[in-house]
Amino acid sequence: MKYYSLNKQSPIVTFEQATVKGQAPDKGLYFPENIPQLPKGFIENLKQYSKEEIGVTVMQPYVADSLPNVELHRIVAETVNFNFPLVKINESIYSLELFHGPTLAFKDVGARFMSRCLGYFNRNNNQKVTVLVATSGDTGGAVANGFLGVEGVEVIILYPSGKVSPVQELQLTTLGQNITALEVQGNFDDCQAIVKQAFMDVDINAKLSLTSANSINVARWLPQQLYYFYAHQQWQQNDAPVVCVPSGNFGNICAGMMAFASGLPVANFIAACNSNDVVTNYLQTEQYSPKQAVATVSNAMDVGNPSNFVRIQQIFNNEFSSLKNKLSSISISDETTKQTITEVYKNYNYTLDPHGAVAFNALENYFNEDSQFPPFGGVRGGCGYILETAHPVKFPDVVEEAIGKKIEVPEEVKYLFNKTKKSTLLSSNYNDFKEWLMNK
Ligand SMILES: *Cc1c(COP(=O)(O)O)cnc(C)c1O
Repeated sequence: MKYYSLNKQSPIVTFEQATVKGQAPDKGLYFPENIPQLPKGFIENLKQYSKEEIGVTVMQPYVADSLPNVELHRIVAETVNFNFPLVKINESIYSLELFHGPTLAFKDVGARFMSRCLGYFNRNNNQKVTVLVATSGDTGGAVANGFLGVEGVEVIILYPSGKVSPVQELQLTTLGQNITALEVQGNFDDCQAIVKQAFMDVDINAKLSLTSANSINVARWLPQQLYYFYAHQQWQQNDAPVVCVPSGNFGNICAGMMAFASGLPVANFIAACNSNDVVTNYLQTEQYSPKQAVATVSNAMDVGNPSNFVRIQQIFNNEFSSLKNKLSSISISDETTKQTITEVYKNYNYTLDPHGAVAFNALENYFNEDSQFPPFGGVRGGCGYILETAHPVKFPDVVEEAIGKKIEVPEEVKYLFNKTKKSTLLSSNYNDFKEWLMNK
């Protein structure tokens, strides 16, 4: 498979080159030259396959020119060595729990896959790379954990001081080795701005080979398709599910749409957004107007100009009407998000995190005949699932207030509380960062 830049001003590249570069030289996102179709009978027989077999079959066409099959097998096996249970919340809504990985958020899969790809591409130690990433909380932990100990890869994570939860901060500041955490005295946008400027900085690029580990990177974005196959394996209904994805940068939902485009049955996609409603508005007005992100309780989705939306448009050949036939979107307020956590706990004894709550409310709305949900292909009712993208313990303040009790800390993260935080405090001034990096 070859990849081209959606800005169409850069040469086509292999999977390896696209992964190492992150973004194309013309600042476009890489996109596969075609969307592979699943082998005949694959979906019908899905239940017979292991997670590894599904992972290899789905990913193989995307990586074939860069990863030998044995390496792909190993990488997939290491990437998906935890569970992806589909749990029933009520008669019409299931939760695909994507928080059983090492950092309790869905980003583990993409981060683990990408780190192992970079490790393999660097096997002769000839293209040492520095991964630079800004995080509002979840990305940092997943990337730190995924890249820990990978030879030839140095990871630098910028996070906003005092604005990530205790578990999140411990996940990104306690690992050491090739992982460095920079605690920026500012907000997530400040961190993001520093990273963006660094990518364009001539001095830095002369010294280091930088790459990004956010969902613009094909090696992080594409393996996210696997969740939707694992959900389908566990899907018991006859009708295809409505799939509701809490969305920020739209990498996760876009991966789901790639899975659909390659043959996975999905009735409809819903992009559940918080007050950052650029895509919700776009689907109603056909006007795409990026905005400054606003802060919400589902902060991993506080994105004012979702990078991956251009990829979604490409899947539908940039035809608004075909896109609108398959994708719907609704924006949920913080008030409603918290209320949803309370009600779902009370009614179904299920604890949602704020991101999952945005999705639950969106899907419930969609199934409700009387709702204000934008009319959508005339379809109502049916059955579907949300992607529960993080464990509630990562957002204790909001969740504990909403359910009126403490959340139990899962075994997987208890050990973190005995570790010591190690971070470098920096101002939000770009020059301070640059000086630090150049002298490192
Ligand atoms: C990153 C993240 C999202 C948003 O995913 P995108 O791919 O950026 O749309 C949703 N929920 C959680 C918990 C996240 O960490």
